[in-house]
Amino acid sequence: MKKSFEADTGRVLNIVINSLYSEKEIFLRELISNSSDALDKRRFLSLTDSSLGAENSEYKISIMIDKKNKSLTISDNGIGMDEEDLIKSLGTIARSGTSEFLAELEKKASEKKDADVNLIGQFGVGFYSSFMVADNVVVISRKAGSHDCFKWSSDGTTGYEIEKLDNAEVGTTITLTVKAAAKEFLDETRLSFITKKYSDHISYPIDFSAGVGKEKKTINSASALWTRDKKDITPDQYNEFFRHIGAGYGEPFLTIHSKAEGTVSYTNLLFIPDKRPFDLFTAERNSKLKLYANRVFITDNCEDILPKWLRFVYGIIDTPDLDLNVSREMLQHNPALKRISKSLIKKVINELKKIKEKDGQKYDLFWKEFGQAFKEGIYEDADNKKNILALSKFYSSKSDDTIFLSDYLEGMHKNQEAIFYISSDTLDRAKTSPHLEGLKAKGIEVLFFVDPIDTFWLQMLPEFEEKKFTSITKGTIDLSKFDNEVKNKKKSDDNEKKAEKPDFSKLIERIKAELGENVSDVRLSNKLVDSPSCLVADEVGMDVQMERIMKMHDKDFAGAPRILELNENHEVILQLNKMPDKKKELIKDASFLLFDQAKIMEGQMPVDLGGFTRRLTQFMSGALK
Ligand code: ADP
Repeated sequence: MKKSFEADTGRVLNIVINSLYSEKEIFLRELISNSSDALDKRRFLSLTDSSLGAENSEYKISIMIDKKNKSLTISDNGIGMDEEDLIKSLGTIARSGTSEFLAELEKKASEKKDADVNLIGQFGVGFYSSFMVADNVVVISRKAGSHDCFKWSSDGTTGYEIEKLDNAEVGTTITLTVKAAAKEFLDETRLSFITKKYSDHISYPIDFSAGVGKEKKTINSASALWTRDKKDITPDQYNEFFRHIGAGYGEPFLTIHSKAEGTVSYTNLLFIPDKRPFDLFTAERNSKLKLYANRVFITDNCEDILPKWLRFVYGIIDTPDLDLNVSREMLQHNPALKRISKSLIKKVINELKKIKEKDGQKYDLFWKEFGQAFKEGIYEDADNKKNILALSKFYSSKSDDTIFLSDYLEGMHKNQEAIFYISSDTLDRAKTSPHLEGLKAKGIEVLFFVDPIDTFWLQMLPEFEEKKFTSITKGTIDLSKFDNEVKNKKKSDDNEKKAEKPDFSKLIERIKAELGENVSDVRLSNKLVDSPSCLVADEVGMDVQMERIMKMHDKDFAGAPRILELNENHEVILQLNKMPDKKKELIKDASFLLFDQAKIMEGQMPVDLGGFTRRLTQFMSGALK
């Protein structure tokens, strides 16, 4: 039966073959890792049904060169695949976010010609990497518990063929017909060298044979890396393990290998990668941990050990305090796992804290890649929210780099009681907001909350070290207390001037009447310097950004009308105030332009686009006359 590759599979193959060519040897790591996973799965199955286990319980991987046929064979007696598995696993790529990721990768590849290996590492090309070195790949597999055996073969161009075979052992044998350009992989010295490199930490024996009928040699120690003493593990071995578990192609940003003994005992070998995985923000927010009980793989689907906000932490947990027959459902309520979870979260937070204190630049690398996901913990984890917030970084009106809240507190004005922030959907919009003007003029720092999650965690944790977070787009802020002494003197001069200041009450009434239900009130502002107007929510109202998020989720969500604030020192407002009553139309148009302009500065559209352009054109014509 001939079948075509699904569209995304074809794209992955294309990228692998054309872009990854400088890293050809990784195909071996990918195939060994797949075999090791398959062995893990079979061993786990045999716990509940011994008839599915391997004879003599000897699980292993074999690698053999066949120079005569220019081929290389990797086989295992793992779980195996049936026909459906072969079609699903080797013909399609069913991971959400794949198309988007591939599009981004193809774009980068077309710009630079050579796609960044690290980028592909975020995705993991797995089995398909075989086609970098082979012009033909044959997979023969029989699934544990099934009598049928299937052969899958492909030249890696458009599709593959599947046929049924008679008798084969349970497990999978992959035969690569090696391309002329990759014949180095048929060389015994070269191949045994890379096999060693990629098999060092694998828990199963890997037998290596240099030719048909030649002696088989076990090439690794077959002890799980995490069970070894830290001092016996080299950085290279850690790096290889990191790549083996699919955490990336680079090097780990952080490695946490430790043992805990007490009410529950466990070993953890955790990694934070150097780059975010491609699916960090897909809806599933999948965990990247594998759970072992006494070195026996149990599951890689353990949502409950590390919370979703730590979904960028890869690695393994091995505990003897888990019944091997525990079902997936039981795992969820397992008290031992609950304890392990608590202590792991603490460990990760503490390690990050150490990096923050020791090496700020390094911490920034972490923050850039994972900060957005990490911050979700402030919203989701009541026990740890304060620690997470203390480790969070934000942009601010005074700094081009992100800062910690502790930095903010240090720079506060002596009369300042609140932490000021503005929420926005982009950094640029936050930076150019008219709401900032008054505070900026007084030298008061404002934090920019530009990730959607910021709006949510604020509800769970409205203060930091007893200082309340205060949105500068809500209510009024008394700026006068931030004047310094010299300025106070100036202020009294200002007050004298104020006495001569015009009365705006009539103008305010007019504008309010024109705008009607579009606004809840019109008043003079104390925070505008350069802009003529801005919109604010009242003290108890919804923050502008929160309202925008609500609108995204519910089209019919109307939101509450806002207060239009006017800058009494601005030329436009001063001139408008002098307009005689008979210029009614002009005042009306100006009112709407002031209102629409304030909306635009918040990233919103004017309500009546036609009216807005007509008014703008009219004012331009007037000015150009
Ligand atoms: P990944 O390993 O990241 O899932 P791969 O492309 O390497 O991606 O493999 C796809 C799937 O094919 C695996 O998830 C597994 O289900 C199946 N598979 C690959 N190799 C083997 C093998 N040796 N034995 C059993 N199943 C395998």
